[in-house]
Amino acid sequence: MSELTEISSLGEFGLIEHLTKNFEIQNASTILAIGDDGAVIDHFGKQTVISTDLLIDGIHFDLMYNPLKHLGYKSVVVNLSDIYAMNATPTQITVSIAISSRFTTEAVTEFYEGIFLACEKYGVDLVGGDTSSSQKGFIISVTAVGEVTPNHFVKRDGAKKGDLICVSGDLGAAFIGLTLLEREKKIFLENPKIQPDLENESYVIGRFLKPEARKDIVEFFEQNKMIPTAMMDLSDGLSSDILHICRQSNLGCRIHEDKIPIADETRNAAFKFSLDPTMCALNGGEDYELLFTVNQEDYDKINTNSQISVVGYMTEAEEKTKLITKGGNTVDIVAQGWNAFGAK
Ligand code: ADP
Ligand code: MG
Repeated sequence: MSELTEISSLGEFGLIEHLTKNFEIQNASTILAIGDDGAVIDHFGKQTVISTDLLIDGIHFDLMYNPLKHLGYKSVVVNLSDIYAMNATPTQITVSIAISSRFTTEAVTEFYEGIFLACEKYGVDLVGGDTSSSQKGFIISVTAVGEVTPNHFVKRDGAKKGDLICVSGDLGAAFIGLTLLEREKKIFLENPKIQPDLENESYVIGRFLKPEARKDIVEFFEQNKMIPTAMMDLSDGLSSDILHICRQSNLGCRIHEDKIPIADETRNAAFKFSLDPTMCALNGGEDYELLFTVNQEDYDKINTNSQISVVGYMTEAEEKTKLITKGGNTVDIVAQGWNAFGAK
């Protein structure tokens, strides 16, 4: 094994320089990036959207199974997902980290390789951040900035009665991926000689460790000159997230279980581990798909996109929030979120 470099040998400024020297500016809106007391952004008449997230070692991620490069990628992607969920285009991010002395320069460099990949893929510029030491563990804060045509941003409170409820991609995979990783971790801790057997589950594990943000869906809206009436990203599971749209739009909803998109890989993995795929889609989290409502007139447009599924419609508030099961029963949708599953 090659020598590892203690961060103290580079110093804080040396480390920042080392981590950020390869980032190239991709947006005209980035007027001034890393190296001064602040970054300067000019969105040339567009409106600015900002979102921030804090990720803590042992709470939001587990370094036993989150490779640092994936973690860097995911830390950026989950933030970009919030910007897309506003119907905006992310353009800049800042990344702040606190690291304990147990992390080497190589480890932090790997983390930044993931950040770099996400920046490249989504066309955003890293324009600043902060670096600190921590007594224990790894703390990450990412702030994303985006731009949107004035007043084209989409909130959670704009859904109207009769609007179609849509989701992008497929749901529930990340939750199963996490469940598998937790299970393997437990087995490994009990007997470190047993090697994890995850080979056939690359889809669900990939969806958890390296999620993508739905840039394509927001571009599709723009190309088709349509604006959803309400939107958010699916980070806590369909059941708890649709309740936000219902509550904030002061409406109820009907969701059809048989319309919820679930990948074959997710179904197979769920059955193998005695989990109900629908419950994983409803109550699992971290899918980072988009949940949005559209006027019925936009049905023909969304119908052309195979990545969009209509799962239900909005109703009067008095009709409550209900799921129509495959068996034809009507049951209440309750916010379980994925914490209720006992996962981290
Ligand atoms: P200050 O003393 O004003 O906090 P720093 O020395 O922390 O400034 O940062 C110098 C420059 O490096 C700034 O442009 C800052 O945004 C950037 N920077 C610091 N830490 C990071 C990081 N972890 N990732 C990206 N950029 C960073
Ligand atoms: Mg600083």
